[in-house]
Amino acid sequence: MIDFASMEEAHALPLYAKRGIVLVRGENARVWDQGGRCYIDCVAGHGTANLGHCHPAVVEAVRQQAGRLISCSNTFYSDARALFLERLAGAAPPGLGRAFLCNSGAEAVEAALKLARFTTGRTRFVCARQAFHGRTLGALSATHNPLYRDGFGPLVEGFTFVPFNDLQAAEAAVTEETAGVLLEVVQGEGGVHVADGEVLTGVAALCRERGALLLIDEVQTGFCRTGRLFAFERFGLEPDLVCLAKSIAGGLPMGAVLCSSAIRAQPNKHGTTFGGNPLCCAAASASLGVMVETRLWEQAERKGERLMTRLGAIRGPRVRQVRGLGLMVGVELREKVRPYLDRLAAEGVLALPAGPNVLRLLPPLTIEEDDLGRVAEAVERVLG
Ligand SMILES: *Cc1c(COP(=O)(O)O)cnc(C)c1O
Repeated sequence: MIDFASMEEAHALPLYAKRGIVLVRGENARVWDQGGRCYIDCVAGHGTANLGHCHPAVVEAVRQQAGRLISCSNTFYSDARALFLERLAGAAPPGLGRAFLCNSGAEAVEAALKLARFTTGRTRFVCARQAFHGRTLGALSATHNPLYRDGFGPLVEGFTFVPFNDLQAAEAAVTEETAGVLLEVVQGEGGVHVADGEVLTGVAALCRERGALLLIDEVQTGFCRTGRLFAFERFGLEPDLVCLAKSIAGGLPMGAVLCSSAIRAQPNKHGTTFGGNPLCCAAASASLGVMVETRLWEQAERKGERLMTRLGAIRGPRVRQVRGLGLMVGVELREKVRPYLDRLAAEGVLALPAGPNVLRLLPPLTIEEDDLGRVAEAVERVLG
């Protein structure tokens, strides 16, 4: 067998803590390694495969578009781009009818920060502790964890961090200089912390009162993960701008910023070469089409409740708390999570961490009920 692991080790920068499994194939919630071993995949490409691996509608859309047109400068119109933009605007709540298309979550956050400064003429941002918004310098400046920030300063100026779910702290931090408040509805990388609805609506009111924009990062929570197409819909929020990526395009690299009419933009102030390319737009159209047709958010809601009920019943000294929203589930442990990820993999289940001591499960929302049951059994065996 070819040693692909060593090949990667030899030629890739050592930026990731690797898991020692070489994946070669995927179908819905299952992936296979080089030796033919099957795993139930609750990593799902780090949350990019809400619709499962290689969904037939996405595969077919990519196949067709790849044979027709792959590249198209944003200075020209494109049929595939127009159709996706229309579908996205149609699926989003009213008032978010325009978008900027890019290639990743960090790029969506960068665009959000630039558009907020450009729109308001203000420079400052309020973000949450434990927030994760990406690795580029702007997105990193909005990210709280020193693990990601240290060694890269000076970062972008003007960012203030307040405790998550603390309205009083937000009231003290949002001023006439605040361009925007940037928040995740469920903090993903920060440990699967769910926002309090009253705090969110309080922050939204605060933004309106002080002329700051409400910027919601749905890169991980978006596209049905939390039981709605977008998590902010659960709380009746009307954000000025929403950052999207991860599961937007059936696993292909894409990001987007959904904008209300409050957001100002004009030629030459922002852009990207690959953003909105026909290939990713075709994949995204196909993916969103399936999500809306099958009301995929309902599956996330139902399966998430089932999984959390089962995991919540685990007794023993290891588990501190089970929490989440929809099928975005975190199990906080009283000890380090790493060894348990390896034990779960040995049981045939791939899961990911969210910080040092939270086990995170992000299965495809299309996961078979039986497979979800197997995931619960494996976690029970390993943690119980
Ligand atoms: C993953 C993530 C990002 C960054 O996305 P990339 O595509 O890795 O740049 C930003 N915000 C949130 C909430 C994320 O989960």
